[in-house]
Amino acid sequence: MIEFDGVTKRYPDGTVAVDDLSMKVGTGQITVFVGPSGCGKTTALRMINRMIQPTSGRILIDGDDVTTRPEAQLRREIGYVIQGAGLFPHRTVLDNVATVPVLQGTTRREARQAALGLLERVGLPATLAKRYPAQLSGGQQQRVGVARALAADPPVLLMDEPFSAVDPVVRDDLQQELLRLQGELGKTIVLVTHDIDEAIRLGDEVAVFAEGARLAQFASPADLLAA
Ligand code: ADP
Ligand code: ADP
Repeated sequence: MIEFDGVTKRYPDGTVAVDDLSMKVGTGQITVFVGPSGCGKTTALRMINRMIQPTSGRILIDGDDVTTRPEAQLRREIGYVIQGAGLFPHRTVLDNVATVPVLQGTTRREARQAALGLLERVGLPATLAKRYPAQLSGGQQQRVGVARALAADPPVLLMDEPFSAVDPVVRDDLQQELLRLQGELGKTIVLVTHDIDEAIRLGDEVAVFAEGARLAQFASPADLLAA
């Protein structure tokens, strides 16, 4: 479980991006952070893997303060997927997925074998494995981004607007794939979106962020729709 305990983030220019946030993200679930632009969703997400340090308060993973986790352990435990996929442009699709496991000590051969399996899992044909990211469609790049994050087999996956750069039909397809993968792999997923429909479709729990860097609601989609 991931717990925010009175977390505030004030940027050096004085902007309070997250104001006294307390909530719990369940293990093995998809928790969605939703809300308009600028209300602190990305900041909250990035504090989970310490890309951003809170100004005050604590974030606990399975009861341990993330500030006590060695950096290398955090990278292994928490995968990260961003809008536009953030792929390495000068590496092939296969090597984008295989690189991190190789850095972690897997042999190149094994890592490439595993990468092919992961690409299949996210619905990318093996014939595209030798291409470079620029030679793929947006939807295909996003699939590679998910495969790359899964390559280290992290129990937790953070996804920041993973589907917002693709057209609606592809988005639909990627959302289905994510739900299928989640059913298979049971990861703890925290996903940021500004799209309430996406939040309701994907979330086991939905955290609604509002103006003023506040948490307005935290509920299941069924409860949100009933409210
Ligand atoms: P969201 O993901 O909901 O769009 P962000 O977490 O990106 O929100 O941003 C929350 C607020 O913090 C916004 O007002 C944004 O302008 C501000 N902000 C984000 N990053 C920085 C930064 N590095 N320095 C100063 N202000 C920032
Ligand atoms: P999507 O619906 O997934 O966004 P696109 O319409 O962007 O798909 O692309 C359709 C097909 O064209 C894909 O199979 C993709 O591999 C191929 N493609 C797109 N851009 C390029 C490119 N720059 N070079 C080679 N093939 C490309």
